[in-house]
Amino acid sequence: MTARILVVDDIPANVRLLEVRLLAEYFEVLTANNGPDAIETCENGKVDVVLLDVMMPEMDGFEVCRRLKSDPATSHIPVVMITALDQVSDRVRGLEAGADDFLTKPVNDLQLMTRVKSLVRLKSLTDELRLRASTTRNIGIEELLSRNFASEDTTPKVLLIDERKSSVERIQKMLRDRADLDVTGDPHAGFFQAAETPYECVMISTAFADFDPLRLCSQLRSLDRTRFVPIILLAEEGEEERIIRGLELGINDYLMRPIDQQELTARLRTQVRRKRYNDQLRASVTQTIEMAVTDGLTGLHNRRYLDSHLQTLFDRAVARRRPLSVMITDLDRFKSINDAHGHDGGDEVLREFARRLRKNVRGIDLACRFGGEEFVVVMPDTDGVVAEKVAERIRAEIAQKPFAIGADGKTIEVTVSVGVSSVLKGVDTVAALMKRADLALYEAKSGGRNRVVAKAA
Ligand code: GH3
Ligand code: MG
Ligand code: MG
Repeated sequence: MTARILVVDDIPANVRLLEVRLLAEYFEVLTANNGPDAIETCENGKVDVVLLDVMMPEMDGFEVCRRLKSDPATSHIPVVMITALDQVSDRVRGLEAGADDFLTKPVNDLQLMTRVKSLVRLKSLTDELRLRASTTRNIGIEELLSRNFASEDTTPKVLLIDERKSSVERIQKMLRDRADLDVTGDPHAGFFQAAETPYECVMISTAFADFDPLRLCSQLRSLDRTRFVPIILLAEEGEEERIIRGLELGINDYLMRPIDQQELTARLRTQVRRKRYNDQLRASVTQTIEMAVTDGLTGLHNRRYLDSHLQTLFDRAVARRRPLSVMITDLDRFKSINDAHGHDGGDEVLREFARRLRKNVRGIDLACRFGGEEFVVVMPDTDGVVAEKVAERIRAEIAQKPFAIGADGKTIEVTVSVGVSSVLKGVDTVAALMKRADLALYEAKSGGRNRVVAKAA
């Protein structure tokens, strides 16, 4: 995992010290000696993580962090604050400035690598989500990504897997009021519990009599439901090797025993905050993608979705020598419905039509709003004879039950015309298939409307 790290410190010797250690781990290193230069580098270059000294003349680290976090162009870059003293007040100030993590001078090698690797991993995940979001071309996405998601007011749900009673009791006491803590002494049970419950952090002790805690870490990382849950390892002095292995397996952080309460709560808070941010980002991206392929009025898929999936369904049918049919429906004299009942009344008819359409097709059928008052249904594994029956059922369902519009129980008669076509054996294309359905629809209209016409193969 290679990444570009920006080291910011006003003392050149400190910069050099960190640079050498990061280079030894094959990171790319950029440097800056003051805040303004650091901000400029972040704006211009592809920086993956910033290591930021707090004590600098002119513009201190808090201010640099605040500026980076308030600019949408740089707010997603993780920032690690390097404090001279392990002071709680500095941490609080750092958190307020939006820092993602902390290191204390003199910087311990293992801690440096843990924070940097964990944040690089996080950054690549965030980058991927941002990229996906931008490919859906949602204009609101920048606003979405720069939004401050983190809501730290709720108590995080945490699982502790530790078989030593005394240790469990100590941690329970430290986290009282700070976490909703579940505890198990059995790593196997812990694994299942983590898979079943949406924990926001799992803390795993390294001290098991006959179980390898790293196996649990790797299991949690390979299961879909726990892939993104933060893992903090509770290790013993002298277990550096094990922690490094854990990092390779994807643990997010570690704590050395004896555990310091402030350290524990700060680490936990950082992990939970990050997870919440990413969860919300992921949910927003999913929602954005859904919105991009969904018709807002009816909730059916939209034309963009049809365009991208019809070819796939077509190719699959041809390859498997299975039938495939499509129908195009068009409401009859819809303009006069709009004229008589207003645009809102027309919209109500469209929504109700979509509801009846969906009710009368199978789950594997693809029902889309093609545009205006035209809808398309793609029916895999369905030949022309069956497709025509489905179309006829839909036509009857529309014509036989008047549509209710408005709050006063008014009803109107609605009819629909449908054109059906099926994939031909031999040479056929999506365009030709759609063209035949369109011709059939035209025949249904010119033949008097409220009818189904199927183009025989
Ligand atoms: P035909 O039987 O030949 O299909 O006649 P028609 O009036 O249904 O056909 P035409 O395509 O001329 O008119 C469709 C109308 O649908 C015109 C347009 O204003 C209306 N329309 C398109 N989209 C919407 C919409 O989202 N809501 C509403 N209420 N009306 C829409
Ligand atoms: Mg129409
Ligand atoms: Mg039309």
